[in-house]
Amino acid sequence: MKKILLVMILMLGATGLVLGLSQNLNVQFPTGNQAATPPDDDKLRIIVFGAHPDDGEIKAGGAAALWAQQGHHVKFVSTTNGDIGHAVMAGGPLAKRRTAEVKRADKILGADTEVLDIHDGELMPTLQNRKTFVRLIRQWKADIVMGHRLNDYHPDHRYTGVLMQDAAFMVTVSSFCPDVPQLAQNPVFLYLSDNFQKPNPFEPDIVVAIDEVFEQKAEALWQLESQIESLWATGNFERVEPIPTDPAGRAARKLVVTRRFARRAESVANKYRNKLIELYGPEKAQKVRYAEAFELCEYGRQPSAEELKMLFPFFKN
Ligand SMILES: [Zn+2]
Repeated sequence: MKKILLVMILMLGATGLVLGLSQNLNVQFPTGNQAATPPDDDKLRIIVFGAHPDDGEIKAGGAAALWAQQGHHVKFVSTTNGDIGHAVMAGGPLAKRRTAEVKRADKILGADTEVLDIHDGELMPTLQNRKTFVRLIRQWKADIVMGHRLNDYHPDHRYTGVLMQDAAFMVTVSSFCPDVPQLAQNPVFLYLSDNFQKPNPFEPDIVVAIDEVFEQKAEALWQLESQIESLWATGNFERVEPIPTDPAGRAARKLVVTRRFARRAESVANKYRNKLIELYGPEKAQKVRYAEAFELCEYGRQPSAEELKMLFPFFKN
């Protein structure tokens, strides 16, 4: 009898342990390096979802630096760990390398970092991932959420966009993921820029001049060495162009990388000059050389023009 009782107690204990564990697993999400929730202050909270440990920084690194300068809280989330993004490296070692690189980059921008431990090229718009997005947005108590558009070339980019859109209403629903309190106010959701035309081209609602932080952004992107030596370098995914180790060689290579991003930021400024004029006034707008652009998603809160300027407090005309 005693034996039976002991077995029963052990079984109950084990069940409790399993239940406890599964409860814990329930509130966890596949995360590599999560930052704490920002302090409760009157500053803005921005969360940027990029599919790989470079996308958010490339598209919104300048705006992030400008927000951070004013004490606002920015967090970059990479929705995959980037573990196939190199010609000759892959798997765990590459995921670790890219996580370390993007943390360095975000530190330079003044932003927080989280890299979800989901394989590169394998992100799916699942219920589990929708919950992860909802929890991350709620934990950050985000005022602004950013992500890719749905007509992007890369499946991870597209599904990041889908997951962002799927979270846009659910973050306010108290009984969805009740382990993290819902947001009282739906954030404003925006798309990162791209050049895809079909079915509809990107149309910015906000264009931010990043001239004053362009060097800072370039320095941040320079930290992403795995991408500089592999994918960004050649566009040929099977070839590596090692970064020189001698100071002169490194400086020359850095210049090439910086110029590439300068051209991109110039083309955004030129393409959306009319929007810059609308936001900064003609005199200032004509002088803007580098810019980043964002388009409102129609699923989150729809801000007035005045509110949008408060969320992007960079237009002092
Ligand atoms: Zn990407």
